[in-house]
Amino acid sequence: MLNVPSQAFPAPGSQQRVASQGRSKVPLKQGRSLMDWIRLTKSGTDLTGLKGRLIEVTEEELKTHNKKDDCWICIRGLVYNVSPYMEYHPGGEDELMRAAGADGTDLFNEVHRWVNYESMLKECLVGRMAVKPAVPKGMLPKSQVTDTLPREGPSSPSYDWFQTESSVTIAIYTKQKNISLDSVMVDLQGDSLRAETFIQDHSYLIHIGLSHEVQENFSVRVIENVGKVDIVLQKRENISWKCLGQPLEKHDSFIPKKDTGLSYRRCQLISKEDVTHDTRLFCLMLPPSTHLQVPVGHHVYLKLSVTGAEIVKPYTPVSASLLSGFREPVPPPNKYIYFLIKIYPDGLFTPELDRLQIGDFVSVSSPEGNFKLSKLQEVEDLFLLAAGTGFTPMVNVLNYALTCVSSLRKVKLMFFNKTEDDIIWRCELEKLAFKDKRFDTEFVLSAPSPEWNGKQGHVSPALLSEFLQRSLENSRVFLCICGPTPFTDEGIRLLHDLNFSNDEIHGFTA
Ligand code: FAD
Ligand code: NAP
Repeated sequence: MLNVPSQAFPAPGSQQRVASQGRSKVPLKQGRSLMDWIRLTKSGTDLTGLKGRLIEVTEEELKTHNKKDDCWICIRGLVYNVSPYMEYHPGGEDELMRAAGADGTDLFNEVHRWVNYESMLKECLVGRMAVKPAVPKGMLPKSQVTDTLPREGPSSPSYDWFQTESSVTIAIYTKQKNISLDSVMVDLQGDSLRAETFIQDHSYLIHIGLSHEVQENFSVRVIENVGKVDIVLQKRENISWKCLGQPLEKHDSFIPKKDTGLSYRRCQLISKEDVTHDTRLFCLMLPPSTHLQVPVGHHVYLKLSVTGAEIVKPYTPVSASLLSGFREPVPPPNKYIYFLIKIYPDGLFTPELDRLQIGDFVSVSSPEGNFKLSKLQEVEDLFLLAAGTGFTPMVNVLNYALTCVSSLRKVKLMFFNKTEDDIIWRCELEKLAFKDKRFDTEFVLSAPSPEWNGKQGHVSPALLSEFLQRSLENSRVFLCICGPTPFTDEGIRLLHDLNFSNDEIHGFTA
């Protein structure tokens, strides 16, 4: 950042003044190199003092942060706390202080237009400048919208829209870092656009009857470090829109997720494949006008109409396989959603689901769940305890841990079933254990055949103490457990007996 000067800036006499052969940099203290800065930004240190929260900054507030140890600078509408960066700035502290408590965009543009400051300073991002009260031309007037602000929890997001000749972009400012594509759910039905953004335990809804027609395909982008979501719609006609549209029910509302209803979209059954004698892998295709990704450890509800009555049951999406590259050709991401579902011949829902023909429809809800991905962030030993279809939430947890958690040393799955024939994806699990030495699996059967020479019985202190061996004496550990409710309850009780804390255990329950 701030390291490529021009002739116009810095001022004559500045320590950053350009010499004909380049510029004289300020000598940096030991341990203040670019690599040291990168290391600091990746260390998880809270560099803004806001614990990851993004705020709206007024001009008045910005002005107050004008000291070396409390220095905020606005660049292109985004406000950064540059105090932690002071000693790392190759051009010296005084140069940074020239924009302290002010909008440094012009200075920055003269000197550093090409510098990737967003990436260098992303951990210093405080938020965005508050928009002045004037309603930009074409926006929905605030008086027409429902504005339900939460009394506590994250601060309320806002939105704006922009257009080009061929597209309309709706920008949602979540004011929260670590927003990802699975935080956003968008459905476009005719001219009705419904976009729900999940921010911590709250949901922000954009619900608009668009003023003009758009194509059914749209894209969703997330700028994670700024907490911004862009929904890019393609116009059907290249005309200028005077307004985005009319607000529909609960538009612009921000309420606790528990107070929102489930929304459904109709998905088509694409394939159905036997996995065991009673469990099948169902593949559903999302409508082209839907963006929906289920977060790791969350579930959805499937809804079918059976002789006039609607039946709804929860199911946990899984990846198409445990082994990447297993299926050819690889389906485009986000369009398909897979489920491993056990069919109970005397059950209410699953026999109906099993009767569907390829091409038939089933409704899929918005995601739900309380699993926190952050629990896996620094884990070293991950233990998974699954019984029967309680294996399903483990699939994405396992995939995520093996691909995204750099601290991970070991993942072990203890998988309880009645017989060998009931073990879901046994072959894949064994192949994965062969392929990735960090992963290991043990099968435990409650009703084995006489030939079975593996482990037997139900979840017990003896089985658990042997299984729960850490890779290091004080390793950071996390445990997930899922299966029939009595199995999960008993497992959690035994884990407490073994001195694991609630913080180290996630039980997937109904
Ligand atoms: P049900 O009608 O519920 O019957 C199931 C069995 O219980 C049958 O054998 C039935 O005879 C018996 N039964 C029903 N009522 C009684 C009773 N009163 N007394 C004794 N026995 C009874 N399942 C999956 O296969 N895959 C998943 O990914 C999955 N994810 C889930 C996620 C969550 C969060 C939860 C809570 C459950 C999940 N389930 C999953 C289970 C799923 O929701 C259904 O419970 C399951 O598919 C059975 O539904 P059903 O209507 O076909 O059977
Ligand atoms: P299952 O085949 O009936 O049982 C799997 C294993 O668990 C068997 O070895 C069984 O032993 C054992 N078991 C059953 N009850 C037990 C208990 N009280 N204590 C110890 N062990 C016990 O299982 P399933 O039909 O696949 O059912 C899976 C369950 O997981 C369903 O209830 C489903 O709702 C739940 N599930 C929950 C989620 C979630 O996210 N919450 C997700 C998926 C599935 P026995 O031979 O003695 O029966």
